[in-house]
Amino acid sequence: MTDCIFCKIINGDFGTEFVYENEYAVVFKDINPKAEIHLLVVPRVHVESLNELDDEKILGKLMMTVKEVTKKEGIKSYRTVINTGKEAGQEVFHLHIHILAGKGVI
Ligand code: 5GP
Ligand code: ZN
Repeated sequence: MTDCIFCKIINGDFGTEFVYENEYAVVFKDINPKAEIHLLVVPRVHVESLNELDDEKILGKLMMTVKEVTKKEGIKSYRTVINTGKEAGQEVFHLHIHILAGKGVI
């Protein structure tokens, strides 16, 4: 999607460094971290939120990406969050999983 900030990041438009990437997803640091470690796992395909998800494979691949990147980064203990909808705090309408770890995780 041309006006989606995460699609632009995936496309390399901002030169964002990827902590990890595979065929299905990219992982990068949140620009405004809510904990010592705050990563975003983002599918390469544009899906606005869980409400629009119609392919169960995407979620499986995203969760496996969480496992892969945390293993690679040596993050043994972490919290995962998916915000769905404006009222629940979703700001970017391209599905993503937050990984929160280290100091500041509640
Ligand atoms: P949401 O509130 O939609 O679940 O989470 C969106 C997250 O994306 C927020 O934590 C916000 O800080 C992060 N974010 C928004 N714009 C950018 C950006 O341009 N680059 C990066 N790295 N993170 C972003
Ligand atoms: Zn997008």
